[in-house]
Amino acid sequence: MEKKLEQIKEKGLERICKASSMAELEEVRKDLMGKKSELSDVLKNMGSLSAEDKKKIGMITTEIKNIFSDKITEKEQDIISSMSVLDEPLDITIPGTKSEEGALHPITQMCYDLNDAFRSLGFEVYSEDDISSEQYAFDNLNFALDHPARESMDTYWLEGTENKSGAERLCLRPHLTGGSVRYLLDHGAPARFVYPGRVYRNETTDARHERAFFQYEALIVDKNISFSSGMVMIQTILEKVFGRKINVRMREGFFPFTEPGYEIDMECLVCGGKGCRVCNHNGWIEVMPGGVIHPNVLRAAKLDPEEWTGFYINIGLDRLVMMRYGVDDVRLFHSADLRFLEQFK
Ligand SMILES: [Zn+2]
Repeated sequence: MEKKLEQIKEKGLERICKASSMAELEEVRKDLMGKKSELSDVLKNMGSLSAEDKKKIGMITTEIKNIFSDKITEKEQDIISSMSVLDEPLDITIPGTKSEEGALHPITQMCYDLNDAFRSLGFEVYSEDDISSEQYAFDNLNFALDHPARESMDTYWLEGTENKSGAERLCLRPHLTGGSVRYLLDHGAPARFVYPGRVYRNETTDARHERAFFQYEALIVDKNISFSSGMVMIQTILEKVFGRKINVRMREGFFPFTEPGYEIDMECLVCGGKGCRVCNHNGWIEVMPGGVIHPNVLRAAKLDPEEWTGFYINIGLDRLVMMRYGVDDVRLFHSADLRFLEQFK
């Protein structure tokens, strides 16, 4: 009997040793230590033995089980440490893959920088839907009923509303200014807010015209707003964006929603005012129209023009970005050419 046990032990240890995977080892464990194992058979057939022999055989089988158990645990560790997470052998001499990092488009970055600059002056950043109506795009903004902008081909009118008028005649917003009245109707005065966004014009696209482009408009409405507060606002914003004082000048301009209106120019930073192709060789670049809000627009916003006044500016993001980086061709920013855009990371 003892000899048989010795054989079971030898055979068992050999099988544990040869197991090469966890599944195989589990199989071996069941065969050696399970209910149907040879060791169990030995214990079941001890009926004819003396009490003393039973005790002795019992002790030997327990010892063998312990040895098996220890060896199996040891083998498990061997198998685990020899397993690799890689399917294939690793060649550490092959050069690695460079990870690509994205970045904001320079025009988006400029928009965010302006938001920060305006927020620091107490302005709210406001946004509204891209779909507007004749009432908000034209009626509220003092466009005469026969103003050519209403009927020109520039505006995308929404199908099915062409024969309606006012709030029922829908369009993709041709400019942001309509949002100013909507904000004032919701929030009342005094108010200071900016509203960046995309606007749509049904134009033939060429180097300087796109069907959809970004605008950035700011409006301040308060009692006793003067022309000079508008000028201070513009200078403060430019100073924050460019990190230094920027020379600005105003020329007369006409927009239905302003009275008076201005074209606001800044010194050309590409040539430093000497003249280059960006500034048409005159040293100044037109960056924003603006002006004092027209009394009829205040009336549309249910505000009394005797009591309130305000100042608009509409910033050309493209122009500011060109000035910031001294780039002299706006088309590059819309080229989707990563070799160019990656420079602004
Ligand atoms: Zn210039």
